[in-house]
Order: sequence, then structure tokens, then C-alpha cells
Amino acid sequence: VYGGYYSQKDVKEVVEYATSRGVNVVPEIEMPGHSVAAIAAYPELSCTGEQREVETEWGVFKDIYCAGNDHTFEFLKNVLDEVIELFPGKYIHIGGDEAPKVRWEQCSKCQKRIKDEGLHDEHELQSWFIQEIEKYLSSKGKQLIGWDEILEGGLADGAMVQSWRGMEGGIQAAESGHDVIMSPTSHCYFDYGLNSIDLKKVYSFYPVPSQLSDKEKEHVLGAECNMWSERAPYDLVDSKVFPRILAMSEVLWSDSVGRDFEEFYQRVQKHYPRLSALGVDYGLETDPISYATEVNDGKLELVINKGVPDLDIFYSTRDSTPTPSDTKVEEGIEVSSTGTYFVQAFKNDKSYGEPVAVEVTHHKAIGIIPEYGADFSFYYTGGGRTAMTNGLKGTLDFRDGNWQAFQYDDIELIFEVNGMDISSVETNFYQYNNSWVFLPEYVEYSLSLDGENYKFLGRVENETSPKKDGAFIESFKSEFKTHKGKYLKVKAKNMQYCPEWHEAAGSPTWLFIDEVIVK
Ligand SMILES: [Zn+2]
Repeated sequence: VYGGYYSQKDVKEVVEYATSRGVNVVPEIEMPGHSVAAIAAYPELSCTGEQREVETEWGVFKDIYCAGNDHTFEFLKNVLDEVIELFPGKYIHIGGDEAPKVRWEQCSKCQKRIKDEGLHDEHELQSWFIQEIEKYLSSKGKQLIGWDEILEGGLADGAMVQSWRGMEGGIQAAESGHDVIMSPTSHCYFDYGLNSIDLKKVYSFYPVPSQLSDKEKEHVLGAECNMWSERAPYDLVDSKVFPRILAMSEVLWSDSVGRDFEEFYQRVQKHYPRLSALGVDYGLETDPISYATEVNDGKLELVINKGVPDLDIFYSTRDSTPTPSDTKVEEGIEVSSTGTYFVQAFKNDKSYGEPVAVEVTHHKAIGIIPEYGADFSFYYTGGGRTAMTNGLKGTLDFRDGNWQAFQYDDIELIFEVNGMDISSVETNFYQYNNSWVFLPEYVEYSLSLDGENYKFLGRVENETSPKKDGAFIESFKSEFKTHKGKYLKVKAKNMQYCPEWHEAAGSPTWLFIDEVIVK
């Protein structure tokens, strides 16, 4: 699935197999970005013309096709000719997503193109690029599909938009009379884990936004679920696709009126023997254990929920997998100090799913809801405004539901601490530069008695290189002589743009924060 190649003979076989089952195969030939493989083979297609290696890791890369070079278009049209010949369907997907503009900004050929064509900037150059391809495809009787980035700088006339960064791109396209495929990351990305998209979440998806008029709604042709395989080795693909695709199929192929998850759930159970007979290694419907904290009457409670019925859940505070002789979870567990709870689900006395270790941090600011300077992202809410002081810290999985994220904006949080003694403040941040997530440049803590005049408690500079690869968490901690105050301010400086050396140079950076620990 990932890597390798298809010969013309292979493609013909796939298309024939699909056609005999009423399925249309739509090829996607990525441009102008996600084209490192082509550029490694033909360096003259890039702006620099320099030889580079094929990437072996997933990501967004700054070497993209040069839009100022006529040879690029000659090459792409040749490729498309071959593709058109192989795929009899009406649609050709050309990508158009995740194309950093840094090379175009520095390329004399691209800058000349912008001038010659009377364009304003590199976004309009991308739009011009896509329009050139769109004209070519439509002259061959094909319709172009592109990811929602093709809206930036103006949409090509006959283009169809596939909306992945939420539904907004799709709405915008439908409103301007273009056809749309919905595949927002929130419901349709089956490469994501069950903690962000489980069976029920998929079933709750509705691809046609209610804000569209009846005529605009007709432009929403349907949806697609995406099984990107760069983070799912081949042997995991079945378990990620099934049973979630059953929910997506029903959502797309039936009327939404009278849709009922419980009824659907019963129908799904009947599919399992069929899937087993077909050799499908299907996965779970949801995480068997989910958890959250609640603050009731100033007391912190850990609440553990069952993902599926008929489970018994046991926990222990010893570092070992609990057994049915440990404490059974019946209600919220009161947490009075920092500790780790080891939790395991059982079904018919057999362990069900993996054990889960839940670390709960008890501290003075538990339950205090801060005022926000900038709003956090719709995609990474951490569960909302209680996320910073719920006692749960974000883990190495940045989609674990605990992290709260801010794109481009700095973080400013003000907590009403009402005269408590404070001697340290500690905040966790995340870095994963491949996903444009960086540590803050610095974090500042200050206190105020009146909410207007703040006294500096401490400033923690980031000493870790933004170039440090991989995903990791870093704590920014400031300790000081005990102070009292009414308002505690936490400010974290976002880098704002991916730096020059970064493959997505110039794209807005993410700042991921979780838990502001006050002692
Ligand atoms: Zn160029």
C-alpha cells in the first residue's frame, strides 16, 4: 500500500476488477506539492534544479514543481495523458494540498510567471497552476478534483473540491457553484485512532451542511473516508477500516431521517461472522476504556467510562495490570494526590483491550477555568475550557484529546487564583516539527492583585532546538519565593511560522499546551 509502484498492467487489473463491481477508480496525481519522488527523478522540474533524495518519511516538503518552468507543464501533461488512457472514469484528482510556497518566492522563473500573468502572489500562482491543468483535463473530457487548498487564490472553473480541513472549504465551494466531496479529518480519517474517531463518531457524520441552500446542497456529491497508510503498516489497515467503514457506508447510502446508532450497532454485530469468513481482521468499535476528570464541590474525581456494554473495569494503583481481584470501578474515583491508576477492562472474565495507565496530577489550580486571550483550535480543544486544570496531562499522542492547540497565535491564559500561596508554575508543551508543532519561544508567568498590573514571577526560555526531531513533551517550570495574588497569567510565545530550514517554511506553526500545574 505504501511505497512501491504500479505498472500499466497492474493498473488495468485494478480498474477491471473495480469496474466489474460497479466501482470507479479515481487516480490522484499530486501537484504542485507532494512531488518529491518525481523531483528526485527529474531535478529540472523543481525551482532549484538541485538533485535531492526521495523522502522515506511522511511529511510536507518545500521542493515542489516549478510553476515558472514550461517544461514542468509539458511533463505533467505527458503524465496525465498516460493516466487518462489508463483510467476510464470521468475524474482525475490532482491533489493541490500542502504546497509550501518558499521555493516559488525565491525562484526567478516563478516570480517572472507571477509578473507576466498579472498575479498578486504565490497563492495566485498556485491557482494559475491548477487552472492550467484544469483546462488541459477538461479539453480531454475529464473533471479535476483537488483538496480544499485549491480554493486559495481563486478556484479553477470546472474544479471539484475535496474538503479535508473541516467542512468550510466544501461549503465555500458549494456556495460558489462547484461540486464537493466531504472528507473532514474530524470524521473521515480512518488512519486516526479510535480515541479521536470511533464507530459512533463516524455514524454521527453528515456530509451535507445545513447552512447550504437546497440548490447548493446538490453540489455535495458525497464523502470519502481516507485510509492514509504512512502511519498504518499494511497489517493494520483492515482493523482501521473495519468496522468504521460500515458506519460510513450507511451514512452515505441512506437517508439521515430516523438514523439510530443502537439499531445500527445491532446490525454491525451480524457483520462480524461475515467479515471473519472473508478473512477480514477487523478492529474494535471504540476504545473499551475512556476517562475524564470532574471537579465536584472542589474535589477532583477520575471518571472511567465503558466504551462497549457488558464490560467490567478494574483498577489498581500498583504498577501492574489489574485483575478481577482488584478494585472494581463502580463510580468516580476521588483523587486527593498525584498518582497513576492502572485500569483494565474485562468481558466474561477475560481481559478486553489493552491496559491503560492514567496519570492524574493534583495541584492548586484544579478546576479553575481560565480566561483566554486567543481562542484555541476547533480541532484540538483538549475537551474545552476545563482542559488546562483537569489534572490530566497530554501524552505523546497529540490526538489524545488532552492537548489544546493554538495555530499562529500566542497563548495567554488568566486564572483567578484568589489569594492562594503560589511557589511554582509548570506548563507542558509538545514538539513534533514534522507536524509543524513547536515548543514556545518562551513562557512567562505573572501575578496581579487587580487584574491590570502584573508582577513578573518568571520567564522560562526555550533551550531545545526547533530542529530536534520526533515527538516529545517538555515542561516549562518556574519556581520562586511564595507569592499571593488574585490573577495568574500564563503567556506562551508561538513561533508563528515554520522557519526557513523547515520543509513547510512559512506555514503557520502550532503550539500545543496541556496542563498548567500550580503549586
Ligand atoms: Zn520556480
